[in-house]
Amino acid sequence: MYFDRDADLADLAGETVAVIGYGVQGRAFAANLRDSGLRVLVGNRDDAYRDAARADGFAPLPIADAVERASAVLLLIPDEAHPEVYDAQIAPHLGDGDLFVLAHGFSVRFGRIRLPIEADAALLAPKMFGRPIRRHYLEGTGVLAFLDVLQDPTGRALRRTLAVAKATGFTRRGVMPVPHAQETELDLFQEQFLTPLLMDGFKMAFDVLVDAGYDPVPALLDMYASGEMAEMMTEAATVGLYEVIAEQGSPTCRFGVQRRLGTLLGDDVEAKARKILGEIRSGAFAAALEEEAGAGYPSLDAYDAMAGASGVARAHERYRAALDPRPAVG
Ligand code: NDP
Repeated sequence: MYFDRDADLADLAGETVAVIGYGVQGRAFAANLRDSGLRVLVGNRDDAYRDAARADGFAPLPIADAVERASAVLLLIPDEAHPEVYDAQIAPHLGDGDLFVLAHGFSVRFGRIRLPIEADAALLAPKMFGRPIRRHYLEGTGVLAFLDVLQDPTGRALRRTLAVAKATGFTRRGVMPVPHAQETELDLFQEQFLTPLLMDGFKMAFDVLVDAGYDPVPALLDMYASGEMAEMMTEAATVGLYEVIAEQGSPTCRFGVQRRLGTLLGDDVEAKARKILGEIRSGAFAAALEEEAGAGYPSLDAYDAMAGASGVARAHERYRAALDPRPAVG
């Protein structure tokens, strides 16, 4: 594991860093790198994201121009757009000895881009979405990240990538060496198994409670909206998954948890987990993602429609409305 003491911003002395893409990750990376004193350029197409970069005080450039002017390039656009953007606007402008950084191993793991021959290349994958990356940085802390040096013609790829990790705040929390194929597959599996499993669990609990006549808003609060479950996971990240219940749960809670643990998921769920992992590793998921992107993301529209129409969403709206402060009387 690498920490602040293992990284030195001087390893990027005199360099200009180009942040390509100004979305979830790009915005957080760019702000943290700038606040750490690095020279940062933002590269983006001319649209709403570029306007956001401008509003944040950057002078965004077309992607190819930003790559041309920089010696370290961070590619922070969606994975399925990498091949097209990389081939046309990045690879031709990467110079010998430049540093090229990805925030997810997807494009390399599935052979969607070919790394530049004479440039350093590394994976620096934050295990967090963008807003907390920025928030932790401002609070003087950081988020965990995985790192893998993909190629190292200068012999300085690790030092330079650690400097990026320090400037983003990641080494305050810890940067772990993890091979890019593992980072990719772990991340996809978490997204495709654990996240939907938890969401379906919440939805099932909600439906059972509402069907049984409970008011949806307190049901929602008990499930996730109070933040108790989130705090439990935050605690678990420090003390351990089982230990958090042992340490913080009342005897009633501990008895209830242990009584049901291991009884709720059947063999078919484990078989589904293995199938999902198989599809990730075989590249079947990567192909499906590209097909989805090529068709204009119809499934994502369907997700939005499903989410908007769900009882959970309606209960959440009611709960948010109840939180709004009432106008002062008189
Ligand atoms: P976003 O969807 O937020 O990226 C949006 C940015 O990408 C915008 O600047 C957008 O600009 C640009 N973009 C999208 N499509 C294109 C295109 N075809 N050509 C040029 N620019 C394009 O992505 P994320 O920040 O979520 O992800 C970026 C990288 O970070 C990915 O590799 C992802 O796997 C990784 N990552 C993401 C995490 C997350 O929490 N979101 C966590 C860890 C890693 P435009 O206006 O031009 O569309």
